[in-house]
Amino acid sequence: MKKSANPKVPLIDLSGQQKSVQGEIDRSLRRIFSSQRFILGEYGSLLEQKVAQKIKARHAIGVANGSDALYLALLALGVGNGDEVITTPFTFFATAGAISRTGAVPVFVDIDPLTFNLDPAAIGARVSKKTKAILPVHLFGLPCDMEGILKIAKQFSLPVVEDAAQSYGATFRGSQTGSMGDIGCFSFYPTKNLGGAGDGGIMTTSSPELAEKLKLLRNHGSRVKYKHEIVGINSRLDEIQAAVILAKLKRIDRWNSARCKHAKYYEKALGDLPLQLPANVPGLKSTYHLYSILSDRRDQLQQHLEARGIGCGVYYPLPLHLQPCYQWLGYRRGDLPISESTAEKIISLPMYAEMIARQLNTVVDAVRDFFKQ
Ligand SMILES: *Cc1c(COP(=O)(O)O)cnc(C)c1O
Repeated sequence: MKKSANPKVPLIDLSGQQKSVQGEIDRSLRRIFSSQRFILGEYGSLLEQKVAQKIKARHAIGVANGSDALYLALLALGVGNGDEVITTPFTFFATAGAISRTGAVPVFVDIDPLTFNLDPAAIGARVSKKTKAILPVHLFGLPCDMEGILKIAKQFSLPVVEDAAQSYGATFRGSQTGSMGDIGCFSFYPTKNLGGAGDGGIMTTSSPELAEKLKLLRNHGSRVKYKHEIVGINSRLDEIQAAVILAKLKRIDRWNSARCKHAKYYEKALGDLPLQLPANVPGLKSTYHLYSILSDRRDQLQQHLEARGIGCGVYYPLPLHLQPCYQWLGYRRGDLPISESTAEKIISLPMYAEMIARQLNTVVDAVRDFFKQ
C-alpha cells in the first residue's frame, strides 16, 4: 500500500477500531491461551454460526484466508484441470489466482463502466463447453448485478462463486453478498472492512453437500483424525483470528453505516467536479471498502493529494488479463477496454469508519483545490 510519509489523512487508519475492541480481545486471548486450544475450537465455531446467521446462509466454514476460500470453493464445485471459469479482470489478483491454482483457466470478461463490476451482458459470449463456473467480485464493497449474473448462470447451468472479500454486510435488494451464489467467499485480511489481526477468511453456502465438502477440503479431507476421505489442504481459521473477528462482528453494522455516511459526504462535496464518483445504484448497499473515483488526470491528482498529505492509492493499476503471468493466455491491450481505461483513471480516497468531519473536509478541500489550478 503506497502512502505518503506521515499523511495528514491516511488512506486507512485502523487504530480507532482497535481501541473499541481491545478489552474484549484481551479477555478472549487470555481464555484461548489458558485453554491451549488454538485451532478449530469454540471461537471458530461461534464465528461460523454468527456469520451464517448474518449472511443468511445455512453454513459458514472458516479458512486461513480469502484466497483459500476462493480456491476451496472452486475445488468443492469440481473445477480442475482444463476447465474455464469466467471472472472479471478488474479485481485483486487472488480472484484469478484461485482459478489458476485449481488447474483451470480464468476467462476474463469486461466490467460495467459505472459499477466496475463484471458485466452480465458480456458473459454469454464467453461461455464454452469448458466453462465450469462464474466468479463475480463485489468490488470495493458494491454488490454486482446478481440478478443478471444468476440469470445467465441458470441459463447455462453454471454454479456461481461470489468473491465477497470486500463486501461483508453489503446487500443486493436486501440479500447479503455471499448468500446469492452457490458459495460466498470472504477475507478477513486486516484492511478489509471486516478484518482480523492477520490472515483469515470464511466461506458461506446453503448447500449441506457443499458445506460438508468445504469442511473436508480445509482440513486435509479428514473428518476423523488420520482418516482422509479426499485430498484437501490445511486452511483452517485459528482461534485467535476468530476471537478478533467475533469482537468486531458486533460493531460491523455501525462501521459500515459510518462508511456509507462518509461516502454520502464525499458525494455531496465532490459531485460538481469532473470526476466519476462511485455508482449509486437503487437497491444496492455498498460497504465502501474503498472509495474509488475516476479522473482523466489521475496521476496528477494523486501527486497533488500526496503532496498535501492525503493518503490515496490505485486499486488496481493493471487489469489481470494484462499481467505478466497471464501473457500466455493471449489477451492484448484493447481486448477489455473498460477495465483498461478504468485502471488508468482510478484512484481511492481515504475511507474508514472513524474518520471525522475535519478529516473529510481536508480531503475534500485538497481535491477541490486540484481542479482550481
Ligand atoms: C483481499 C481479497 C482477496 C483475498 O483475500 P486474502 O484474505 O488476502 O487471501 C480476494 N479477492 C478480493 C477481491 C480481495 O480484495
